[in-house]
Amino acid sequence: MKDYVLNNGVKIPSIGFGTFLAKDGEETYRAVRAALDAGYRHIDTAAIYGNEVSVGRALADSGVAREDIFVTTKLWNDNHTAEQAHAALDESLTKLGLDYVDLYLVHWPNPSSVRSERGADGWKERNAAVWSAMEADLDAGKTRALGVSNFMKHHLDELLKTARVTPAVNQIRLAPGVYQTEAIEASRAHGILLEAWGPLGQGELFANETVRAMADKYGKTVAQLAVAWSLQNGFLPLPKSVTPERIASNLDALDVTLSAEDMETLKNLPVQQGADDPDVVSW
Ligand code: NAD
Repeated sequence: MKDYVLNNGVKIPSIGFGTFLAKDGEETYRAVRAALDAGYRHIDTAAIYGNEVSVGRALADSGVAREDIFVTTKLWNDNHTAEQAHAALDESLTKLGLDYVDLYLVHWPNPSSVRSERGADGWKERNAAVWSAMEADLDAGKTRALGVSNFMKHHLDELLKTARVTPAVNQIRLAPGVYQTEAIEASRAHGILLEAWGPLGQGELFANETVRAMADKYGKTVAQLAVAWSLQNGFLPLPKSVTPERIASNLDALDVTLSAEDMETLKNLPVQQGADDPDVVSW
């Protein structure tokens, strides 16, 4: 698998393994072991997923060298002060059993708790403080890169007013039918790599007739087609499954090139679910 190179020079494998809703314990442990066996070298977790202990156990038992695996975790919304952000990364490292992660993300830019506590603009001050704490943790070697998630243009613009370190990544919802043009352009303007969460449409794509017919045409599964679409857009997809066969098969998307017309059809696919508005979602 090829790497992308982040804006701080750190290499990141171009497909990551998603672990949202993978239950802590055997389910996550087996899924991450299966992913590493299948060739994934990039695991995406988060404090809120509650499965960092099992992810860490799977990493430790895998026999793959730590420096050959890229691990991302995320700061949850109830830790949006500088002190809490430091403590939260320490707690994630302890749970993962690691000395450092490769990427640490602010999970959401405008949690509801900040909104109710500080009024409409509370997130600006909070994100600046949290980011500064994360920059110190980067300097301390607790993470090799910093990034954000679900940041729209106005969140990025605001953060960049005070940031010393430009985010390396913006992890947002991107999938056939969910193409967040303004956030994509705002990220790219600063050399920020886009990671695609929900790259399989969170399951929504599998029954779509247009997608199924197109996948057949290329001799690919729907999941492989969606991963290929993501890569061809220059995104970094994070497909999730807990089924070993699917985990392995979802990786098999590197040998296909979609036509410009099919790329566009997928981009504009009518889907039920749009992206959540980070200034409105209630967590
Ligand atoms: P996804 O698009 O990866 O879809 C996962 C769903 O597709 C699951 O229900 C799975 O059973 C199914 N699936 C996977 N492979 C399949 C196959 N080959 N055939 C049939 N069904 C298949 O959705 P996701 O898990 O929500 O997103 C991927 C990852 O992105 C997450 O696991 C997580 O790591 C990350 N994420 C981040 C955020 C964020 O706010 N930053 C939010 C959601 C997810």
